[in-house]
Amino acid sequence: MKDRGKLGTNHNVLAGAFDVIENLTNAIRCVGWAIDPSRKLPAKEVIIMDGERILGKGITVIERKDVAEYIGSDSVIKCGWEIYINKKDVTTESKLKAYAYIAEQEEVILLSNEYSMTKCLVEYTPYSKCTIDISGGCNAKCPWCVTGRKNKDGREALISFMKKEEFVEIVEYMLSNGIINQGTRIELYNWGEPFINPDFKGIVKYLGKKELDFYISTNASRVVEFNEKSELRHLKGITFSMSGMTQESYDKMHRFDIETIKKNIKRIIENFKACGFKGEASISFHIYQHNYDELKVVKDFAAALDIKVNAFHALFTDYEMFTSYIEKTIPQELLYEASRELVLYYIEGKIKERNLEYRCPQLNSLVIDYRGQVVSCCVLNDQVQDYALGVIKELSLKDIVNLKSNMIVCELCKKNKLDYIYHNTNQVK
Ligand code: SF4
Ligand code: SF4
Repeated sequence: MKDRGKLGTNHNVLAGAFDVIENLTNAIRCVGWAIDPSRKLPAKEVIIMDGERILGKGITVIERKDVAEYIGSDSVIKCGWEIYINKKDVTTESKLKAYAYIAEQEEVILLSNEYSMTKCLVEYTPYSKCTIDISGGCNAKCPWCVTGRKNKDGREALISFMKKEEFVEIVEYMLSNGIINQGTRIELYNWGEPFINPDFKGIVKYLGKKELDFYISTNASRVVEFNEKSELRHLKGITFSMSGMTQESYDKMHRFDIETIKKNIKRIIENFKACGFKGEASISFHIYQHNYDELKVVKDFAAALDIKVNAFHALFTDYEMFTSYIEKTIPQELLYEASRELVLYYIEGKIKERNLEYRCPQLNSLVIDYRGQVVSCCVLNDQVQDYALGVIKELSLKDIVNLKSNMIVCELCKKNKLDYIYHNTNQVK
C-alpha cells in the first residue's frame, strides 16, 4: 500500500482522522472519520494497520455532524467509521494507523494520529509474579555475574539483607493495595542468595502462615533446616544453581567445595520434603566450555535424588557487559576471557529469532530489591541507570504499571534483543 499524502502535506483540507482507540474486554475499538476532500464525499473504506499487517477494515456509515460543519457540506455527513480489532492481533508494541481509500482503490490516505498500544493495553491487575530479593548479594564468585564479581575482593562480608519485619510490611502493603494477591507467585531470589539472609527462616515461615506460594533458588552453599511437618507446604519449587560437578569447574565459577554442595543439596531436599515440600526440585546447570562433560554426571546425581536438571549455556549475567558484547564494544581482554569460557555461538541466531511481536515477560512481573525498591526489571543490576523506579511502600499498582511501561532502558535492551536472549536461554539436553 502506498501513502498518497500525510495529512497536512499535500491535501489542503483534512481528509480524516483516527480519533479514538478504546481497550474493551474482547476487542480494540477504533473510531474516526474519512472523506474524499476534493469531491466532498465520504471515503470508501478504512483500513487499520500495524506496520504491514491489516488488522481490520470498515466503511464510512456513521453520521458526523461535526465533520459536516467543518467541511461546510452535508454531503460528507456519513463519513464516520468504527472498526473493531481482535485483541489477539495486537501487542503492546503495535502501532496502529488508519488509512482511507478515497475514490479509486489506488488512492490511499493516511489519516491523522498513530496509536501505540503500549498504554492502551495496560491493565491494572495484581502482578502474577513478584520477586523479592531478600539478600543484597551472593556469596559465590561467578566471574560472569555482576554479583559474583563484586566478591572477588572479599565484599561478600558486607552484604546487606532485608529484615523479616521489612519483608512482612512490604508483603502486607502489596496485598492490601492490590499490587499482589493470594495467587501471586513469590520468588525469593534475584541477584542475591536467599539462604544467607539471617531472617530467611522467619520469612519462609511468614509466607507459609499467609498461605502464599513461593519459590526459592540457591547455590546450596548454606543449609537452613526446618522443623515442623507442614512448614514448607507453600514452597512450590526450589532450584539449585550449579556450575559443574568437579572441583576444577567449581574453582573456576562458584568457588565452593563441590562435595559440600552435593551434600547440602541432599540435606536440603530431605529436610524440606520432611517439612511438607511437595513442589518441584531442580538443578539449574550452567554450561561453560570446560564443563560439557559433566552434564552426564549431574544428570546421574539428580536422578538419584529424583530431581530434574535444566542445563543451559551460561551467559553474561551482567546487563552492561552483555550490551557491550552485542554492540561489539566489549574490552578486548574480556572478550578474550569470554571466548575461552562462555558458549556464545548461538547468540546471533537468537538475535535473528526475535520477531517484532515479542513482548518482554518482565513487564508482567514485579521485582523488589533488598532495600524495598521497585526495580525496573530482574535483568538490571544496581550499577545500571534507571535501576530503581521508587520505594514500593510509596507506590500504587497504577504507579508501578505506568512506570514500568515507560522505561527508557527497555529501548536499548529491545534494540539489542537482550530482552529475548535473557528469557530464551539456550537449553542443552
Ligand atoms: S551467578 Fe548466581 S551463584 Fe553465581 S555469583 Fe551470580 S547470583 Fe551468585
Ligand atoms: S526490555 Fe529489557 S530492560 Fe526492559 S523489562 Fe525487558 S528485559 Fe528488562
